[in-house]
Amino acid sequence: MGDQTGFPVLIDGPAIKKRVTELAEAIDADYEGQTPVLLGVLTGSFIFLADLCREMKTRCEIDFVRVDSYGGGTTSSGDPALTLGAKLDLNGRAVLVVDEIIDTGLTLNLLLEKIKSMGAADVKTVALINKRAKREIPLEPDYTGFTVENGFLVGYGLDSAETMRNLPYIAISEKKE
Ligand code: 5GP
Ligand code: MG
Repeated sequence: MGDQTGFPVLIDGPAIKKRVTELAEAIDADYEGQTPVLLGVLTGSFIFLADLCREMKTRCEIDFVRVDSYGGGTTSSGDPALTLGAKLDLNGRAVLVVDEIIDTGLTLNLLLEKIKSMGAADVKTVALINKRAKREIPLEPDYTGFTVENGFLVGYGLDSAETMRNLPYIAISEKKE
């Protein structure tokens, strides 16, 4: 089925909402009695984090970091850099990194190293999409929304050169990369 972008819809809005609710329940169960820091990776995670945290009952703090690895194209530069650090002191904290998609794993790997070096007591990761075909670092998120093999996805925070982040569903812009 096509949409306003002309791209096929891969995961529709209701399916995303259902899965986000399930993820929130799993996270609530694991973090009972704790106050984790939800650390969103800008820009792509902003919608996922906003929906996830409102489905969660766990008391939490929220902060964002920025990691840049795409020069506006559709393939990773392979050299991600932390370009905006957290405002909160993560020392001794339980940190849940919230990313919309894990692809090569380079971004999450960099973040895990940085957050651990800041003295976090516990670091876990949640990714709405686990894209497997190009994984370079053997790293799996602690919580995964959906697993896909390949393709360049847009919508629900995921961009095409900064556009399409506001689509309320996830569409696939290319069959193969
Ligand atoms: P990684 O470092 O795991 O290769 O890539 C992580 C980042 O690349 C994601 O947080 C996201 O910003 C971007 N990315 C990876 N795959 C896709 C995709 O299919 N669509 C979009 N829009 N961004 C992607
Ligand atoms: Mg990202």
